Order: sequence, then C-alpha cells, then structure tokens
Amino acid sequence: MQSSLSNHTERLRSAKLKVTKARQELLDNLEKFSQPFTADDVYDSLMLNGGEVHRSTVYRDITAFARSGILNELSIHGRNGHYYELDDGSHHHHFICKECNIISSIFPEKVERALEEFAQELTHDGLEVEYHSLKFYGVCALCLTSRTNSVFKH
Ligand SMILES: [Zn+2]
Ligand SMILES: [Zn+2]
Repeated sequence: MQSSLSNHTERLRSAKLKVTKARQELLDNLEKFSQPFTADDVYDSLMLNGGEVHRSTVYRDITAFARSGILNELSIHGRNGHYYELDDGSHHHHFICKECNIISSIFPEKVERALEEFAQELTHDGLEVEYHSLKFYGVCALCLTSRTNSVFKH
C-alpha cells in the first residue's frame, strides 16, 4: 500500500496542480472528514490542529481542488455555501438528515438503472445528458430512534 504522502503527490499531479507541502497537508486533513464539509469546516479543523494558514488560502485551494476534480461539490437545500467531498471515483448520492444535519452517501442501484433508461430516452429526443444530481432529505435512523425514545419518556 502506498503511503498517503505519495498518494497526495500523485493526486495533485494527475489533477495538474502544483505539489506543495501545504496542499499535501490539506489533502491529509480532507481525508479525515467522514462526511461532506464546507471550506469553513476545513479551515476550522486546520486551526484546531495547530495549522498556520490563511482562510483565503484554504478557500483558494479548495476551489482549485473542486475545479480539477479532486473534490466533488454539492449544494444542500436550505444551507448556505457549498459542501465538498473527496472524489473516490464512486457514483453515489446523498441522504441529508434535517434534524442532526448528517449527510450520508447512498447507492440507489434501482434508481440508477431507471435514470439510465430515462437518459437514453432524452438522447432519443436529441438531448445530451452529462450527469444527474439527486438528493434525499428526511430523518436518519438515529434521530428516528431518539424521537421514539423521547415519546416513551413522557
Ligand atoms: Zn439525524
Ligand atoms: Zn446517480
């Protein structure tokens, strides 16, 4: 297995971005997020780890990462700003819990097949589909459980 440092170098090179220590450290930090994050989340976590970096540098690098495909960008209904996640090459969608705000990756295979068929129909109509974007909003299992528990307490 490759060390994460050479992984980072490779990632930056294949994205045609200049390899700098700051960007490698940034990638290291991004790998620690278990769910999509904002540029502010990244800045805060760098600061918590004793980093000395300007907010504007973080924003600039995040934007460059998103533009070059290292990061996927997603906007969440009802929330300001953009969320990002490291592109792991997998095609997936998201479920957003409106109560605890957690964002989970989901792989709706049946939906994908239906969307693929529909994209073909659109192609027949002379349209060119490049990608689709799909999000599910609701309440996660954990929040549903704690809801039930609090009902029982009263
Ligand atoms: Zn929840
Ligand atoms: Zn899909």
